[in-house]
Amino acid sequence: MRSARAAFASIVWGCALLAGSPHALGLDLPHENAVPGGVKILRLKSSATSMPYVDTDGHRALVIQDGATWVAVIGIPLAAPLGLRQVTVRDPNGAQELEFAVGDKQYTSQSLKVAPGQVDLSAADLARVNREKIRIEHALSHWTEPPPESLRLPPPVPGPRSSSFGSRRVFNGQSRNPHSGMDIAAATGTAVLAPIAGTVVDTGAYFFNGNTVFIDHGRGLISMYCHLSAVDVKPGERVAAGTRIGAVGMTGRATGPHLHWGLSLNRAWVDPELFLP
Ligand SMILES: [Zn+2]
Repeated sequence: MRSARAAFASIVWGCALLAGSPHALGLDLPHENAVPGGVKILRLKSSATSMPYVDTDGHRALVIQDGATWVAVIGIPLAAPLGLRQVTVRDPNGAQELEFAVGDKQYTSQSLKVAPGQVDLSAADLARVNREKIRIEHALSHWTEPPPESLRLPPPVPGPRSSSFGSRRVFNGQSRNPHSGMDIAAATGTAVLAPIAGTVVDTGAYFFNGNTVFIDHGRGLISMYCHLSAVDVKPGERVAAGTRIGAVGMTGRATGPHLHWGLSLNRAWVDPELFLP
């Protein structure tokens, strides 16, 4: 399994080299896949000694240093249109517009059956969901200066992983938002571990996501853990890689016990698969 993955990684890496994509040696960058829900890696031409500010769609992008140069790791929203996408790079020498191509990715469709009240919401539940949206946006908009300790994140729980990120969701015959994370099947009570270090920015019980933990890993990379049966951390708490943050469950809208693992980069949900070691 491990060797198969290593072989796959070397194929992907080889393709990136053949395609002439920018790559950073010595940095554990995610796999690049410039599609909706994917990641674009841009090597900046800025020679500034201070970190350039990279703006994508009105949000600040993650920028890390590689020797004397800077590399932007840009999350592409699932709703991004195909074609050229602009970013603005600002450093003490001025502003520069860059663009890159967003390619197509065919995501599948998934039909799921849940309790009717989880699809056709009562007025009270709808009001609750709208309040929660604001709170989730607030958690995802956190920015802390130190960079993530790694951009390769081991799965927070062992178990079979769905590749349903981005799939269109049809609940009880009604179309809903695409699936914005990775589902990992595991028994209720299985420990959920922080994949890399970070600060817990929020915890709570949400209508759809159930018991949830948000962790800020730095420079706009925020991870989210949903449907938990237990939450073992508090907002403001610093966690190291491997810290138990909670346990798998099926709270909220879930058809069985599993972990929903979301990764947000510059406020865009990106495919956690691209960040696996
Ligand atoms: Zn999910």
